[in-house]
Amino acid sequence: MTTHTGTSAEPGNRRILLVEDEKTIADVVRDYLVKAEFQVDVAGDGFTALELAASRQPDLVILDRMLPGLDGVEVCRRLRQTMSVPVIMVTALGTEDDRILGLEMGADDYVTKPFSPRELVLRVKSVLRRSIKEFTPEPPVEVAGLHLDPASRTVTHRRVPLALTVREFDLLAFLMRRPNQVFSREELIKAVWGWDFGDLSTVTVHVRRLREKIEANPTKPELLKTVWGVGYRFDAKQADTDDVRLDSGEGVHGRQ
Ligand code: CA
Repeated sequence: MTTHTGTSAEPGNRRILLVEDEKTIADVVRDYLVKAEFQVDVAGDGFTALELAASRQPDLVILDRMLPGLDGVEVCRRLRQTMSVPVIMVTALGTEDDRILGLEMGADDYVTKPFSPRELVLRVKSVLRRSIKEFTPEPPVEVAGLHLDPASRTVTHRRVPLALTVREFDLLAFLMRRPNQVFSREELIKAVWGWDFGDLSTVTVHVRRLREKIEANPTKPELLKTVWGVGYRFDAKQADTDDVRLDSGEGVHGRQ
């Protein structure tokens, strides 16, 4: 698993892999990214994208959903098996199912075609800001067997390393630092994603993915609880009790 070790937010030091088969769109987006002083590699199909991702080690991937051969969702899934690189999915269909599928496969963010290249560059900068190490990182936090270290952007559960995407890490860090407080999806999308508005199912999907990684039984979550009709809460009351917590009869709010 390749993790992010960059230390600079300067675009000139950041390499973007742009995966787009429509040449006119690829040219326009590449020009905007180059103007913003990013280094840009372009792939016109999924297999080239995987090759370039491996050889160039980009800091972020912009991934078109509809590609010839290997589509964007499959590229994202394969990337996720070996890299933690942030992925912004570009979807042409704009249906909720399509966006959620991208997020399920490990995309950190998405934009819908037609999009403004300027907005895409802002999204890229926003995701990168969150994926780089801070110069003065916050101290590690440990709750309920989970150890989260902002300096290395790593999470372990009972000393077993977990592979989290950029946004999954940010969401978990936000909630672990505020145990037992309830946050609505609107509050989380503002605080964690930095969006003033956005598709709230983004939060739902990330919560579900986090649960699959941190919960003993993701369908009966003991840590990342749903507070029905309100939002989510990281529950620290269960801290360090062991497997018996599965029998506590809690978690009836797990439905989403
Ligand atoms: Ca396409």
